[in-house]
Amino acid sequence: MSPSSRKPDTQLAHLGREPKNQHGAVNPPVYHASTILFEDVASLRAAKDVRMDRNAVTYGRAGTPTTMALQDSVAALEGGYGGIAVSSGLAAVTASIMALVQAGDHVLMTDSVYGPARAFCDSTLARFGVETTYYDPLIAGGIASLIKENTKIVFTESPGSQTFEVQDIPAIAEAAHAAGAAVLMDNTWGTPLYCKSFELGVDVSIHAGTKYIVGHSDAMLGMIVTNEAHYENVRRCVMSLGHSAAPDDVFLGLRGFRTLSVRLERHHKTGLALASWLQNRPEVARVMHPALPDDPGHALWKRDFSGACGLFGLVLHPVAQSALEAMLDHLELYGMGYSWGGFESLIIPTDPASIRTATEWNAQGPALRIHAGLEDIDDLIADLEAGFERLNRAVAAE
Ligand SMILES: *Cc1c(COP(=O)(O)O)cnc(C)c1O
Repeated sequence: MSPSSRKPDTQLAHLGREPKNQHGAVNPPVYHASTILFEDVASLRAAKDVRMDRNAVTYGRAGTPTTMALQDSVAALEGGYGGIAVSSGLAAVTASIMALVQAGDHVLMTDSVYGPARAFCDSTLARFGVETTYYDPLIAGGIASLIKENTKIVFTESPGSQTFEVQDIPAIAEAAHAAGAAVLMDNTWGTPLYCKSFELGVDVSIHAGTKYIVGHSDAMLGMIVTNEAHYENVRRCVMSLGHSAAPDDVFLGLRGFRTLSVRLERHHKTGLALASWLQNRPEVARVMHPALPDDPGHALWKRDFSGACGLFGLVLHPVAQSALEAMLDHLELYGMGYSWGGFESLIIPTDPASIRTATEWNAQGPALRIHAGLEDIDDLIADLEAGFERLNRAVAAE
């Protein structure tokens, strides 16, 4: 049985491990390395030629066997050709884009994209003479009308990590490929387990490994997975930029990888239960969670994803800022902080209107984003319920 024909849960437990070659130890060791020593002048010189070989150990920055175990494992799980580990999810986004464009080129970017990726396009990319046009995430095959002769990339993020629109990736990919443009997808929400992006036509898949792959809120990591056509190009760009992932963070990524499936199963279940409960609250105007049957993106989500993670959004009915703060400031189980994908629950107010330009955000009330962690669902509901009571008391006292 070839490793790639095994079921995902089996892959998660067995990919990237060779106990026989490491004294029987179950997990690969962490190599802390910068200098790699060579036996003689000939092999020292040869290292230059094999630098691009994904398994060549030539210098710490190019990766150690621990890095390669993670890269190969994530790529195999997602169904891509090769994986590249970098120091953060944002580095994975920016290096992938830079690998595919040059001055004078054009990038089509979803309006629902992660804020710092937008900032990169508007600042750094613009400074190097690459133009970005933002498009409606729900555009599907209509993207064809925005593709120009110099369009090299159609960048997607599905669902958007603040507003949760599900994009029709196969339709976008068909139009992009017909025009010779590559499709990049920030697949952090779907993870390499729940969204097999290459089956949808994606060329380069990007993960903030910081989120579910690490899974414990204690390391920064980015993963790029590419198809065969783009691997060398992206790897070359990553190497030339000097990106690399730190040994202990790579190890934490591998450790998180082993339990991705069981954690996600619970994140999915708890997130959906919270979302359904919130839908019935009088304070809530709208819940944005593609696994809810009445969500506008539900049909596409069902077609293209095999599960949901714990991240979703909601919009409240208009309420004074002070009442919102009364609710959020005293929650006991939901931390307030950026990032997501760890074992713990989080909540933050979001401001979708401030990070979109091609589409309008016309919700009347404040938007929130919740990450459902691994806590007990009843406790999570009770904490939110107490929060709504504080909010309502504050409203009544006005
Ligand atoms: C967090 C995040 C990133 C960036 O990842 P970092 O590891 O924090 O740099 C990229 N894309 C999405 C969708 C994210 O949520």
